[in-house]
Amino acid sequence: MPSLRGTFVYALSCALGLVAQSSFARELSVVASFSILADMVSEIAGEAIEVESIIGPGADAHIYQPSVADAMTVAGADIVFVNGFGFETWASNLISESASDAVVVIATEGITPIEVDGSIDPHAWNSLKNGMIYVRNIAAALSDIAPQLADQVNANAELYMQRLEYIDQDIACRVSRLPESSRTVVTSHDAFGYLAADYGLTFLAPKGIDTDAEPTARALAVLIKQLKNVDAAALFAENITSPALINQIASETGLEVGGRLYSDALSVPGGPANSYVDMLRHNANNILEILERGSTPGCSEGREIYDQTQLTAME
Ligand SMILES: [Zn+2]
Repeated sequence: MPSLRGTFVYALSCALGLVAQSSFARELSVVASFSILADMVSEIAGEAIEVESIIGPGADAHIYQPSVADAMTVAGADIVFVNGFGFETWASNLISESASDAVVVIATEGITPIEVDGSIDPHAWNSLKNGMIYVRNIAAALSDIAPQLADQVNANAELYMQRLEYIDQDIACRVSRLPESSRTVVTSHDAFGYLAADYGLTFLAPKGIDTDAEPTARALAVLIKQLKNVDAAALFAENITSPALINQIASETGLEVGGRLYSDALSVPGGPANSYVDMLRHNANNILEILERGSTPGCSEGREIYDQTQLTAME
């Protein structure tokens, strides 16, 4: 049994360790470019570190114009996480003009990009397999800049990866039960190419991988003709774009609009996609509930395991 003095010294050193850890964490300024990435960094960093997002929930990063306040945020940052793949076209100017000496971490490092019409599709986070690479990159960068937090960061990352893995298995199982002709989803802009590639879904979009250009009447007519040849398709509006185009396609094809997907930003507080994990589950459930109509239900195992992991995480 340890002596009283030994116990006291141990308790004191633990307390000092915690104080050092939390005061260090308070001093560390961690910034991420958009809400989805900020949430991932925050989950992995843990409660001791506050993560600031340049673009908030519900906002479109494709057409974002940084403010003077953003430049000040970046100037004071120790570490800045960006998606890369050309998503934040404004980020390199913002970082250089703010004269920041922050470590810049590209979360998509190591991911194989998908090309659409000669441009890199930046929406890599919409694949859970890629999400796990983001997690590894984020954990490595945080452990480098704050070695004293590395154990906690790696434990958080491990648990987070398990949750992503279970959601991934669940979606794979549910899609595998769908007939080939019931795997088409339409969204307003092309943000789900990586998700489509993971599970063999077909995503069609009247807009391209950016949100700033309107489709031509001819492109829209081709899309509508294509939709008339599939058995089941789900139409979705997105949180960052206007629903007008999707409503027009619905009225011309007779297909039902299945609600709203969250592609490039989390929901505003109180919405159904307040975290990356909630966003993935919300999108997958909404898409699959429509495509699954008429097919055999199943695949509950993954969801149960996921819920158990979530419970363990909350304890
Ligand atoms: Zn986008």
